[in-house]
Amino acid sequence: MMRVLLTGGSGFIAAHVLDYLIQQGYSVVTTVRSTAKADQIRAAYPTVGTDRLDFAIVEDIAQEDAFDDALVSTPPFEAVIHTASPFHFNVTDVQRDLLDPAIKGTTGILKSIVKKAPTVKKVIITSSFASVVNPFKGPWPEHTYTEKDWNPITLDQASENVANGYRASKTFAEKAAWRFLKQEKPHFSLTTLCPPQVLGPVISHLSSLDSLNTSNQVICDLIQGKFKDKVPENATFTWVDVRDLALCHVRALETPEAADQRFLVTAGYFCNRELVDIVREHHDQIRNQLPAEDSAGGGYPKGGIYQVDSSKVVKILGITFKKLPDTVMDTVNSLQRFLS
Ligand code: NDP
Repeated sequence: MMRVLLTGGSGFIAAHVLDYLIQQGYSVVTTVRSTAKADQIRAAYPTVGTDRLDFAIVEDIAQEDAFDDALVSTPPFEAVIHTASPFHFNVTDVQRDLLDPAIKGTTGILKSIVKKAPTVKKVIITSSFASVVNPFKGPWPEHTYTEKDWNPITLDQASENVANGYRASKTFAEKAAWRFLKQEKPHFSLTTLCPPQVLGPVISHLSSLDSLNTSNQVICDLIQGKFKDKVPENATFTWVDVRDLALCHVRALETPEAADQRFLVTAGYFCNRELVDIVREHHDQIRNQLPAEDSAGGGYPKGGIYQVDSSKVVKILGITFKKLPDTVMDTVNSLQRFLS
C-alpha cells in the first residue's frame, strides 16, 4: 500500500485526487489549513480508517519549512502530490497573495522532501496551462501549444493585474520546480500536469457557494441567471474534467514513463455559448435562468483559436477525456443542492 502525501486536500481538484487514491487502495495523508477542514473531509469517508486517510495541518505553504513536519510519517511516504496553490482573484497584493505561496510552496515542499523524506520516489505537481499559454498573443490561431511552450510573462507584468499575477504564479512555480530538479538532482522524479480551465462536480463537503472553487464559477453564474442579459466572453477556451485530471495525478504515480515529464492535460475547447446550449438542452428546470436563444456574446473568437496538443497525456497516461456535455451536466447536478 503506497503512502502518499497530498497537499491542499480541501481544494476542488485535490478532493477528486483523494477520491481516486482512496478508491485505488493508497494510504493518504493530506495537508489542510485547519482541523475544521480535516474534520469535513474525514466526514466524507466514514468507513476509511486513519491508516488509509490522515491529516497534517499546514496553515500557510509560503512559510519557511512549512512541510517539514507533514513529511515525517510512519510508514514513510513514497510519493507526494502537490496541488496546494492559491487560485482565486480575491487579491490585494500579488506578491504576498499569489506569487509567494505558489513559488515558495513549491520550492519549499521540494526542499522539505530532500531533508525529511528520503523514501519519496515521485513528486507530481499540479501546474497549469497558465504556465504554457502566451497571454500576450491572444487567440493566436496559427499556433499549436505543446509541452515545449512556456508563458513568457515577467515579474513586472505579474503585478499589472490579478490575472497576470495568477499566470505568473503558476509559471514561476513550475519553472522553479524544474530548476530545482536540474540543480539539486534529488532522489525523486518530477511530473508536472498543466490543465486549462477545470470543470466538473463540486466536492461533496462543499458547505456553500461562497467557497465554490474559481473554475466552476462560470457554470454556477450561468445557472443562477447571471448570463440572462449577455453571455460573457471566455477568458480561456480550453477545458478538462476534474475527474480526468485527478486520474492523471494517480496514473502519473503509477507510470514509469511519466517520470521527469511535463503534460498538457486538455480535453478540448469550449465557449460560454456552448455551456448555455448544453444547459438549455439537458436541464429543463433551469431554463428560466438562461438568456434568450438570440442573446449576444460568449462565442469563439471570429478568427479562430490556438490548437492544443494533448496527445502525450493520452499516449503515456492512457486518459480518455470526458465530453463537455457530460461534464457540464454532472457539474450542474452537483450544484443543484445549493439552488432553491
Ligand atoms: P482550490 O482553490 O479549490 O484549491 C486550492 C488549495 O490550495 C486549497 O486547498 C487551499 O486551501 C490551498 N491553498 C492555497 N493557498 C494556500 C496557502 N497559502 N497555504 C496553504 N494552503 C493553501 O483550487 P483548485 O483545486 O482549482 O486548484 C488546485 C491546483 O490546481 C492549484 O495549484 C491551481 O493553480 C491548479 N489549477 C487549477 C485549475 C482550475 O481550473 N481549477 C486550472 C489549472 C491549474 P484553503 O481552501 O484552505 O484556502
